[in-house]
Amino acid sequence: MKVLFGPSGNSESFYDEGNKSSVEAPGWLKAKGLDAYEYSCTKGVKIKEKTAEEIGQEAEKHGIFLSIHAPYYINLANPDSDKRKNSIGYIMDSLQAARWMGAKRVVFHPGSCSKVSRRKALEIAKETLKFAMDQAVERGLDDISLCPETLGKKNQLGNLEEVIELCKLDKRFVPALDFGHIHAFNLGGLTEDADYERVFQTIIKELGEDRTRNLHIHYSRIEYTRSGEKKHWTYSDTQYGPEFEPLARCLKKFDVSAVIICESRGTMAEDAVKLKEIYNNILGSGRI
Ligand SMILES: [Zn+2]
Repeated sequence: MKVLFGPSGNSESFYDEGNKSSVEAPGWLKAKGLDAYEYSCTKGVKIKEKTAEEIGQEAEKHGIFLSIHAPYYINLANPDSDKRKNSIGYIMDSLQAARWMGAKRVVFHPGSCSKVSRRKALEIAKETLKFAMDQAVERGLDDISLCPETLGKKNQLGNLEEVIELCKLDKRFVPALDFGHIHAFNLGGLTEDADYERVFQTIIKELGEDRTRNLHIHYSRIEYTRSGEKKHWTYSDTQYGPEFEPLARCLKKFDVSAVIICESRGTMAEDAVKLKEIYNNILGSGRI
């Protein structure tokens, strides 16, 4: 893998052009020159085995790398142990769907820290995640990478340091760096190239250079308020940051291998094509 590009879910144009099912997505993405697809189970893992297998077959045929986004309501830090068990169940369901599909990664939101302190929430989440990994091993699903994602709201567990700490638990965890969320969490923290570089330098310092050869990245422009993330926008909504060019320069500078998933509202596939073009231009330009 080097740097692969694709959307989160299906663009509006995918349906406008008459496509009905995500089974048609891999071929549609391939025709656009894309290489990845993140299937969204954010509202629940409802996909049937047969559909998942069909998406997997199409993805294989068209050379599309598959990942799954697990349900939003996962909260590894819930102080209620029964609810934590449910969250582990949703992660297992996502892994099972990934198995049917041949998806190699499951991305999830670590949770919330609105009920307890950040430190306490992180300690609970670490225990829950270890337990989830044990379950994955038991079910033979541990070859699918679990990817804790950096989140954008102040009351969510999952700033960069917290995601790094979760990833320190096991080398198999892949950090999912959502640059829109990192920008929103820090209320506009990504402006200069140095701001982006610091993210990669922190990963290298804390997790080692090897982990930059195996990253998951989400990108979209994002609106935020004092409490962090408010809304995802499209690439043409240039009044919102963060910019993609500095990120593309970092991918080159730090020789990163990653799957880049574009989470634009409605135009995720079209925007993923734009991101890929920007990256290829920077890669070919010979300058950093
Ligand atoms: Zn996410």
